[in-house]
Amino acid sequence: MIVAECFGVDLPTFQGEGPSCGHPALFIRLSRCNLTCTKCDTPYSWDWSRFDPHEESTKWAVADLVAWAASSPVELVVITGGEPLIQ
Ligand code: SF4
Repeated sequence: MIVAECFGVDLPTFQGEGPSCGHPALFIRLSRCNLTCTKCDTPYSWDWSRFDPHEESTKWAVADLVAWAASSPVELVVITGGEPLIQ
């Protein structure tokens, strides 16, 4: 997987939207997006006219992402983007 960032293991964070809003969560932000929303708050995941994809993303094996998530007692893992379905 091409990943923009993972967070929530070292520094606790919470889901901010949807039915699980307020619950502790881990976030896996996948890189790349084809939607180019004008008010995008994560352009570093896809806008290569402004960001360097080699600096803004890294390749992770799925097993390593699972191991990263499993290293935390937090049970909610949010896979976001970018546009996660590209991958
Ligand atoms: S990352 Fe999200 S907000 Fe940004 S362009 Fe893609 S779908 Fe839109």
